[in-house]
Amino acid sequence: MSFREECGICGRVLRAYRLRKCSRCKRLFCRDCMVPDVATGNPLEPLCLHCARRVVAPRSVSKYAGLAAHLKFRGSFTKLVTLSLARIDGLIGSNLPMSAYKDVGWWANSPSSAHARSWLDSGWDVQEVNLREGLVVFKKVRETRIKRKRRKGETNKPFTPVPVRPIKPRAPSKTKVSKLYARIKNLERQRSALKGSVRSPYEKRLFKSSEKPR
Ligand SMILES: [Zn+2]
Ligand SMILES: [Zn+2]
Repeated sequence: MSFREECGICGRVLRAYRLRKCSRCKRLFCRDCMVPDVATGNPLEPLCLHCARRVVAPRSVSKYAGLAAHLKFRGSFTKLVTLSLARIDGLIGSNLPMSAYKDVGWWANSPSSAHARSWLDSGWDVQEVNLREGLVVFKKVRETRIKRKRRKGETNKPFTPVPVRPIKPRAPSKTKVSKLYARIKNLERQRSALKGSVRSPYEKRLFKSSEKPR
């Protein structure tokens, strides 16, 4: 063991005596990145924050779902993504296994490994791995459509709109028309009565046969 070690979460390099071993994953972390055992509260059996989170909220989805989701998201506007190993730790909310840090083979695009499927199924390949720098380059190789879960009872039929009855232009009723004309006539009569004369509206008038009554 070397004199100085790196905290597995925050990445600070500290003297070995300042780091402690997580009682669950057995890796070294600084005090800031550890809590006493969440179940017993025993400070002699500390847990790293990743392990503590896993104990408190056990995982129901794949460990690498966070990486897959990130790649899908980035895929909508870029085809090349470089991620540091620490960033991937953050995305998956957990520690990558030691082999991911030490063995380039872990990053092989082989569909037989669950972790590789997380990026392969999202439409990405690992293009380059630089473990010395701690960087992984992902390249988008195909489009993926976001799968939508079909609900129960939902069928595969195409959408058919409800038939709409066309509105037929209907001729207005004769009664209505004649009432309307009558009203107009009345108004005109009233108006001309007001305008014109001192005559009472009830006064009889005689018209010549050529002249039409107003
Ligand atoms: Zn730390
Ligand atoms: Zn741990």
